Amino acid sequence: MRKTLIAGNWKMNTDRAAAVALAKGVAAGAAEVDGVDLVVCPPTIYLAVVGEALAGSPVALGAQNVYAEDNGAFTGETSTAMLTDIGAEYVILGHSERRALMGETDADVSKKTHKALAAGLTPIVCVGELLEEREAGKTAEVIKTQFEGSLDGITADQITSVVIAYEPVWAIGTGKVASPEQAEEVHADLRRLLSERYTPQLAEEVRILYGGSMKPGNAAELLAKPNVDGGLIGGASLKPEDFLGIAKAK
Ligand code: PEP
Repeated sequence: MRKTLIAGNWKMNTDRAAAVALAKGVAAGAAEVDGVDLVVCPPTIYLAVVGEALAGSPVALGAQNVYAEDNGAFTGETSTAMLTDIGAEYVILGHSERRALMGETDADVSKKTHKALAAGLTPIVCVGELLEEREAGKTAEVIKTQFEGSLDGITADQITSVVIAYEPVWAIGTGKVASPEQAEEVHADLRRLLSERYTPQLAEEVRILYGGSMKPGNAAELLAKPNVDGGLIGGASLKPEDFLGIAKAK
């Protein structure tokens, strides 16, 4: 049985005080959420203070990105060792904003996924189609290409340590949520791809999150779908009551 995972992607929001207050708010309400793993992913610069604010709570710390080299002349980048050093357990990889704005490719995401797993971090690997790709009937093809490229070389031993997030780009930050049926269709497709590449048993163990304008009001019907194992939450992760409201909707 897959345990529901609700992860908050704070993106480039908050300042130090707001990040600490948000983390404390989530930590304070976490006890009311049963049987759900909670993760918050603040901006890199606030990971340490947010980690301190979460101390003693069941809420895990995650980063929004990492670099695929150990150390050296990579100005502005952060290594997996730096993330684990300050207590991060998860890292979001291949978010559509990084793919679109920073030119991240499936090959980059694959390298980062390998590096994250080697460091004991749980990668949350994002895939998702653009609106024009959906309208052209290419969703399944795009998802397959991203799945194959972003998880290139990930072994059967490693795959159950990976979380996949299906984030239709047209639903991110737009208020346009995928219908539960649209989400389930792609999630079931991803599970079939996992099953074909690995085994049906291993495919059943991998958590597949939905992301894209998820809110307390629409979370229950999305999370009720058999292949939707949680959510990656952007805007609604910036208020403890909204973030926890989504978790409680399960
Ligand atoms: C995201 O950026 O991962 C996301 C799902 O954003 P939002 O919830 O704001 O659509």
